[in-house]
Amino acid sequence: MNFKNYMEDVVMEVYQEFIERNPQYCSCDRCRADAMVIALKQLRGLYAVSQEGEIFTRVSRDDRQIRTDAMVMIVEAAKRVAQQPNH
Ligand SMILES: [Zn+2]
Repeated sequence: MNFKNYMEDVVMEVYQEFIERNPQYCSCDRCRADAMVIALKQLRGLYAVSQEGEIFTRVSRDDRQIRTDAMVMIVEAAKRVAQQPNH
């Protein structure tokens, strides 16, 4: 498992949790994909993840922190998508 894939998994899981708690946001495939792309980009920027997906071991112990950050990014991304949905 590398960090890049790990980030994608975290964003997917946290997004699912978010959308279940916030049904007012559209969860169609298009909005889901758009929100996850935005959130993932922000999250990677925050952790400066390399293309190779390294540094996983360095931050893996902060799983809870990464999920907290991911939720913040997802809330922002969902709001942005909701303002200008592509569906
Ligand atoms: Zn939608």
